[in-house]
Amino acid sequence: MSHTSDFVVVGGGVFGVWIAWFLRQRKYTVTLVDAYGAGNSRSSSGDESRVIRMAYGADALYTRWAAHSLRLWQELFARVGVSLFVNTGMLWLAADGDVSAKQSVGVLSEEGVEHEVISERQIAERFPQFSLDDVKFGIFEPNSGILMARRSVVAVLDDAVRQGVQYRIDAISPPASRAFSEFKTAHGETLSAGAYIFACGAWLNKLFPELLSTRLFPTRQAVFYFGTPAGHAEFQVPRMPTWLHRCDDMYGMPDIENRGIKLANDLHGPPVDPDSENRLVSQAEELQARNYLRRRLPALKDAPVLETRICQYENTWNGDFLLDRHPEWNNVWLAGGGSGHGYKHGPAIGDYLSKQILQEAPPEPRFSLASKKEIQQRAIF
Ligand SMILES: Cc1cc2nc3c(=O)[nH]c(=O)nc-3n(C[C@H](O)[C@H](O)[C@H](O)COP(=O)(O)OP(=O)(O)OC[C@H]3O[C@@H](n4cnc5c(N)ncnc54)[C@H](O)[C@@H]3O)c2cc1C
Repeated sequence: MSHTSDFVVVGGGVFGVWIAWFLRQRKYTVTLVDAYGAGNSRSSSGDESRVIRMAYGADALYTRWAAHSLRLWQELFARVGVSLFVNTGMLWLAADGDVSAKQSVGVLSEEGVEHEVISERQIAERFPQFSLDDVKFGIFEPNSGILMARRSVVAVLDDAVRQGVQYRIDAISPPASRAFSEFKTAHGETLSAGAYIFACGAWLNKLFPELLSTRLFPTRQAVFYFGTPAGHAEFQVPRMPTWLHRCDDMYGMPDIENRGIKLANDLHGPPVDPDSENRLVSQAEELQARNYLRRRLPALKDAPVLETRICQYENTWNGDFLLDRHPEWNNVWLAGGGSGHGYKHGPAIGDYLSKQILQEAPPEPRFSLASKKEIQQRAIF
């Protein structure tokens, strides 16, 4: 069996599906292959929900990309007739002297992103669910919210397939030699293409160990859904927003689809192998979440755990994505390093990388492989 196309995209997470979608828009033939299926439970994109927010401190590029991406997500959902964006609003909680929050306000204003700066008193009045201990002010983004992650990946894939992308559940390993023009899949199919894009999240390390094992750092991240009290709607949209405080270890989302409020650990956990990681949370991880609830949402301090997940971040040294050509193999591209904030940017990533591949735009140096250091010094939140 053999199959030829202009491009093969390996990996059906949010990066891969949007890259395939953009290449297909230009009428190229595209084959998308995922080892476990698009939006699978081992993938970083396979969780139920992901935050899409605009503020990134002084980092205007990510603010622009998030705004561009939200437009593209909404256009796609409207066109295919699904409703996978939940407009919860985004509340940034900030301590006195929070430089990043103040920089966010400047960038949001410059970029024309609707937002409000609100005082501690206003937060307490509008969102009494939160205990504000160190909080002195907040930023509220009314148009931000939550993407239903796993289902949104499938929606992009379905749209891409409708437009002609060929999709397979199969696995691909890069060949040992640099001289190649085709791949054998795990099922024995020969795939050949003009170029191959590896959008393999935390698997990139395993596929390109010599190149990436010291530059990408996949980490274990625990996620909890806590039950809200019977008969109470104050933990649901529109009464509760998505929220984040840069000084906290965790952040959260309101109760969406009646599954309970969601808390996610944002401190980088231990290294993971995405194929074999045990996805049950530990007692220590639960204790950390419980301590956070006691402090930030005291009414839920004894709330029962309804569901848990273990996911992985695939961190670069500072949080900037890796979107670049392989340094030795001219027809291979690498797309990864989502670093705990990449989901929302799927459309902008697809747009950017397709233009790189088609040589339609200059590269952004911060996404290059050469810029990826072998240390961990997170700078993007
Ligand atoms: C707990 C948690 C919370 C997060 N919160 C947010 C958030 O709120 N907002 C946000 O924007 N981002 C968030 N992120 C980050 C975001 O989820 C990731 O950056 C993004 O999903 C990465 O997508 P990806 O396509 O690069 O990787 P993945 O989604 O992991 O996809 C990679 C795919 O490649 C496939 N694959 C691997 N190897 C092969 C092979 N050899 N052959 C074929 N297929 C292969 C896998 O099966 C997988 O489907 C969070 C991440 C985690 C873990």
